Amino acid sequence: MRPESLFPLFRAVTTLKGVGARTATLIEKVAGPHVVDLLWHLPSDIIDRRYTPKIADAEPDTIATITVRVTQHYKPHNQRQPYKITVMDDTGAMSLIFFRARPDYLLKTLPEGEVRVISGKVEKFGDTLQMTHPDHIVTEDNMESLNKVEPVYPLTAGLSLKVLGKTMRAALEVPEALPEWLDPALIDREKWATWHEALLAVHAPESTNDLSVQTPPHRRLAYDELLANQLALAIVRAQMKRLKGVPLKGDGSLRNKVLAALPFSLTNSQNLTLSEIDADLAADHRMLRLLQGDVGSGKTIVALLAMLSAVEAGGQAVIMAPTEILSRQHMATISQMAEAAGIQPVLLTGRERGKKRDEILDKLKTGAARLAVGTHALFQDDVEYHDLRVAVIDEQHRFGVHQRLTLAAKGRAVDVLVMTATPIPRTLMLTAYGDMDVSRLTEKPAGRKPIQTVLISNDRLDEVVHAVGRAVNSNARVYWVCPIIEESETLDMAAAELRYDHLKATFGERIGLVHGRLKGAEKDAVMSAFKDGEIDILVATTVIEVGVDVPEASVMVIEHAERFGLAQLHQLRGRIGRGSEKSTCLLMHVGHLGEIAKARLTTMRKTDDGFVIAERDLELRGAGELLGTRQSGLPEFRLANIADHGDLLQIARDDAEVVLNIDPELQSIRGQALRHLLYLFERDAAVKNLRSG
Ligand code: ADP
Ligand code: MG
Repeated sequence: MRPESLFPLFRAVTTLKGVGARTATLIEKVAGPHVVDLLWHLPSDIIDRRYTPKIADAEPDTIATITVRVTQHYKPHNQRQPYKITVMDDTGAMSLIFFRARPDYLLKTLPEGEVRVISGKVEKFGDTLQMTHPDHIVTEDNMESLNKVEPVYPLTAGLSLKVLGKTMRAALEVPEALPEWLDPALIDREKWATWHEALLAVHAPESTNDLSVQTPPHRRLAYDELLANQLALAIVRAQMKRLKGVPLKGDGSLRNKVLAALPFSLTNSQNLTLSEIDADLAADHRMLRLLQGDVGSGKTIVALLAMLSAVEAGGQAVIMAPTEILSRQHMATISQMAEAAGIQPVLLTGRERGKKRDEILDKLKTGAARLAVGTHALFQDDVEYHDLRVAVIDEQHRFGVHQRLTLAAKGRAVDVLVMTATPIPRTLMLTAYGDMDVSRLTEKPAGRKPIQTVLISNDRLDEVVHAVGRAVNSNARVYWVCPIIEESETLDMAAAELRYDHLKATFGERIGLVHGRLKGAEKDAVMSAFKDGEIDILVATTVIEVGVDVPEASVMVIEHAERFGLAQLHQLRGRIGRGSEKSTCLLMHVGHLGEIAKARLTTMRKTDDGFVIAERDLELRGAGELLGTRQSGLPEFRLANIADHGDLLQIARDDAEVVLNIDPELQSIRGQALRHLLYLFERDAAVKNLRSG
């Protein structure tokens, strides 16, 4: 249960004074739905309102806060003219200008003859000084509230700084001091304030220097967030370690049959990885290993061989993929390879329902099924296993820590192998996985032809269509990838449909379309038509990004390539260059590329090495953005930033480990305070995994 002292922070922003449904929607867009989300929404700039000149001394083009007496209102004669109000002090006069003003409002806020304090940008207009739409107008006794540095927050269309600022001030009233969860020695060393003080401080910058992410209050908050992340991961890990493993040793009987039937031999890298996995399986701790290998490096066969060890030892093994398409594809390749060993895997996704599903569940429960392939449907509550020993999670970055846990709970001692094609730098790896053991496939299977990558401007679409036509005529198969338009599947789909219609006019029936909104069966039909060569061109959204394997495909067109992350482009491009044909990738882009966009696409043209691309991406964009957040599944930090706070991440990791060593259930005083921290950063699942959560 979330501690009561945190309740107010998790109330909807509508509970704040003056926030109605409309404002709440806008605030949700920039920050989030809860009060705490507002607290994490930090200023990006400041407006200094401490300059309080007399009218005669006011420097044009600066922000000034001036005390004036209202002299006269001049109503406009027509709609297009502005409403003008003259004001004065003992040194001179100036005008206030309002476009499309509401006269009754102005008469009320600036009554003739009264004194008001106005703040905003002063401008010189001919000989007179004026201020257009003052940011603030208050009475003299409210001068205090104005005469200071005002934080500026990132906004969204329809949400003014005035409204957000006011809401923010209300939100900052909500939190109370919380019990200190940090190590006193660390606080001393870093000279940090308490959480509450630090929070108020980051929202009250006095100068642009205070906006830096390296100020002590900001670092304190960033550390809090990183510690919550590392502690949550450490709890999960400790939990997995507590569940003892059962040593697993296959006799090689099934593996050897599969290996003998392969049309290739394993690379050194695959063999090495396999021996690391075997050592984990044979040990009496549970395996928790990440297998990192670039696209096309041959992870699937490694996974299958690991799974076969479980079967040889009399147990079961599963492989879980993040999407339906991927699961079906794994099913196809794995059942083909496993056939040599006389094993028929079962497939379980959201699509197997009713009687069919019951049959599969029965096979898993009795142990009649030894290998299973599927989506997270494999780990629904009512799925029971006879003796699950090895679980492989493919493209793990789409799953959360929580899934990993439910999965581990399905067997008496499940060994877990996580596979990813994303070359995650070490620091990011820590935030996503904690201390996982890592194997790397560094070598590509022999015989791969390099992919030629060409950059081409969008306005040469016709040429691209011609080139695709020529390729199709010489039997090539082509992916045509349409970009993400917005964070909206519907819009992505619409764009893909439009392109599909357009290309269909040229290519007729031998073209297909696949996107996230298609029903499973429709998706399969299109994918297998493409695989079987019934269609030559597959128009797709990024649904084909991971894992899709059609070795015959040798051409890829990516529209608006500049909108994709480098890692994502690399993943996409990895769909071609898998067969014996020489492959070509056409990266289409807007006519005028910015410096960085150009550098990024050039990197794609020059190299095919995932790690080089990831490093370059890191240089060009900073770690936070490295893996387009939409699909990375990596934790998104609100206050911390891996590029800037990498040092803190290391400390947090050690800190979390020490804490759990001496107080594994978080029962001590500091432990109790740390529970607050976990809830504050919404790592509730981790707390539930404490035995006395
Ligand atoms: P990924 O690591 O991207 O998941 P896959 O496991 O899908 O890669 O393998 C890509 C292709 O390479 C598959 O067609 C697979 O059969 C083939 N492959 C795997 N290992 C080797 C190898 N050692 N030699 C040749 N081809 C291989
Ligand atoms: Mg794969």
